[in-house]
Amino acid sequence: NEANGPAERTFRIVMCGDAAVGKSSLVFRLVKNEFSSGLPSTLGVDFHVKTVNVDGHNVALQLWDTAGQERFRSLCKSYFRRADGAILVYDVTSEHSFLRVRDWIDTIKESVERNIPIIMVGNKSDLRSGNDGVPKSDGAAVAASLGVLFVETSAKNGHNVDQTILQLARELLAIE
Ligand code: GDP
Repeated sequence: NEANGPAERTFRIVMCGDAAVGKSSLVFRLVKNEFSSGLPSTLGVDFHVKTVNVDGHNVALQLWDTAGQERFRSLCKSYFRRADGAILVYDVTSEHSFLRVRDWIDTIKESVERNIPIIMVGNKSDLRSGNDGVPKSDGAAVAASLGVLFVETSAKNGHNVDQTILQLARELLAIE
């Protein structure tokens, strides 16, 4: 799904979810196809562009990455207001980050007037062992109840990272 040529459409995607769930690592994996355990923490807001080919259409996704800190909360509304879609990340080894997903959905819905496509991502699937962590079925059930897409990923080994962006891009293209 590598794109050749200019993008026909550009969408603005916000990365959200608690600190340390792997938002910056997912963006790094998407854009550079690499993983680094020592990424500098995001200060404020930063974006990277990923262009993909979806069903014959070149689509550019601006991935807006934020710091998850509370300090950033005040910026949130203006940040979300212009979003076309969102990637909401939790860490499958952190029950707390999973429980915070509903708050993030509320934050998005308070800020964006339209209904935007959201994909919920359970990241760090490589770290799950046995029955530890958030079961995939729980993630899928919560996503279904919230009416959002769902995928489990690993920024570390690349599992499902491209699929995340493709699913979201497909949904964005289906809107108009
Ligand atoms: P952010 O605060 O949400 O942007 O999270 P980071 O991308 O900075 O990642 C937080 C920590 O989790 C870092 O130490 C990353 O190396 C690590 N990490 C991120 N994604 C994964 C993953 O898929 N698997 C593993 N094992 N570690 C990850």
